[in-house]
Amino acid sequence: MPADFIFFNGRIVTMSPEKPDASAFAVVGDRFRAVGSDDQIRQLAGTHTKAVDLEGRTVVPGFIETHSHLSLYAMTLLQADCKTPPNQNIDDIKRRIAEMADRAEPDKWIKGWGYDDTLIAEKRHLTVQDLDEAAPDHPVFVSHTSGHLAYVNSKAMAVSGIDAHTPQPEGGEIDKDHNGVPTGLLKEEGALALVMSHIPPYTVSELRDAFKTATGYYHRFGITSTHDGAIGYFRHGPQVLETYWRMHNEGELNIRVYLTLIEEIYRKLLKLGIGRGFGSDLLKVGSLKLFQDGSIQAFTAALNEPYRDRPDISGELLIAQEELNRRVKEYNEDGLQIAIHANGDRAIESVLQAFEAAQAHHSVRANRHMIIHSQLATEPQILRMAQLGIIPNFFVNHVYYWGDRHESIFLGAERAKRIDPLNTARKHGLPFCLHSDLPVTPVNPLFSIHCAANRMTRNGKVLGPEERVAPAEGLKAYTVNAARCSFEEQNKGIIGPGKLADFAVLSNNPLSVPHESIKDIQVMATYLGGRRVYEKDGG
Ligand SMILES: [Zn+2]
Repeated sequence: MPADFIFFNGRIVTMSPEKPDASAFAVVGDRFRAVGSDDQIRQLAGTHTKAVDLEGRTVVPGFIETHSHLSLYAMTLLQADCKTPPNQNIDDIKRRIAEMADRAEPDKWIKGWGYDDTLIAEKRHLTVQDLDEAAPDHPVFVSHTSGHLAYVNSKAMAVSGIDAHTPQPEGGEIDKDHNGVPTGLLKEEGALALVMSHIPPYTVSELRDAFKTATGYYHRFGITSTHDGAIGYFRHGPQVLETYWRMHNEGELNIRVYLTLIEEIYRKLLKLGIGRGFGSDLLKVGSLKLFQDGSIQAFTAALNEPYRDRPDISGELLIAQEELNRRVKEYNEDGLQIAIHANGDRAIESVLQAFEAAQAHHSVRANRHMIIHSQLATEPQILRMAQLGIIPNFFVNHVYYWGDRHESIFLGAERAKRIDPLNTARKHGLPFCLHSDLPVTPVNPLFSIHCAANRMTRNGKVLGPEERVAPAEGLKAYTVNAARCSFEEQNKGIIGPGKLADFAVLSNNPLSVPHESIKDIQVMATYLGGRRVYEKDGG
């Protein structure tokens, strides 16, 4: 059968060890048919074949983002942007919230996201007074950039029944002043849920439009597949699943999604006989999400030693060890893949203990469990991951976005320089993945590969140079290694015959430009299953 398309005159970075370089490939339907030289591939052209001249540009496999939150990011498009930048001070935030309240019906919830107390000029948390001034007549809920904290106003607390007498919830904390009055700050899921349970969910039609916009954003960065990181954690589990399946069934889903689900939802699906791998090449039931700590920048990650600026605390484990052991053993025996969130070295220790205990009953390797973030993993912990076949999924953008503050506020110099130990993992032959955790940081695999190769902070300091890795390792993390995380290495991660024709055309080759300029490489076009889903203006 002649090819539908041939692409020639390119530099094809196939990521296949057998055939690393080529200049052309042919596509039939949604798959690569052949990869080789221009002459070899031209022979596959028939009268109806369309030929595309790559003009010497680099082509890589479509990037696979193994931990981001497409659905949550889509929801942020429906909320007030409280990030810094663009906001410089608390007045900027108040203005945005007030504007949204002005346009909203009375009593409608006003939601904001991305507030960062360490970047805003005042260097403090929002208070109930700030939010009351911005929107006295609407309930307000603003989430912190970490996703582990939130701020509410008086109206929101009244609607949710929170006052000075409310007991502390399990798995969270209502921050109170010295008189016992809530300050408006809520910590961790247990406390956030007290308010979130009163906020009406977004409708499927609101979500559908926002998912389409969000997908377009992924395409701009060459991404063709993503894990949706914790469906149900931010509520909306049923609405998110319905939106995805409707878009899938109606031919509107333009990105491959591996659904990562919280326990409550996963258990319901299992009861219906629906488990990992159920679905299609576009939309699949994936891993089960657990959390064993919070975030370093919210002082809620569980550390072996206390925080630099808070010597009184070192963070808490979210699940007691015995309970974690019990759940990990059960899920592992059921053949589920666990994606467990752990940032601090103490949380990673606890997770490894649970996997080691489970290993005594049933091999854990086959289930390809992942430790999401693995930020402070020590070398002995990396070795144990290698022994168990646990995949560390690093959030290397931390180095750029928080590296300076990790040094000066959260961790101190010694610990800060060893965050995201990519090179230690590489040295021990442990294949790792990388991710952006969008909306926590912008989604851009080339930027993460840049961070991994340079480890440059916002202030221009190289943090822990010994943990830098070559761009080829970063590229592997976003292609071949990432494909393994969804058990799809037969289907993607490589430009090769029979694989899904997902690829990105780049303005330059990340393997040959100077490391400092990887971040400047532009995605010129993105193809999903042989179909162009994005083209840069003038590209
Ligand atoms: Zn996440």
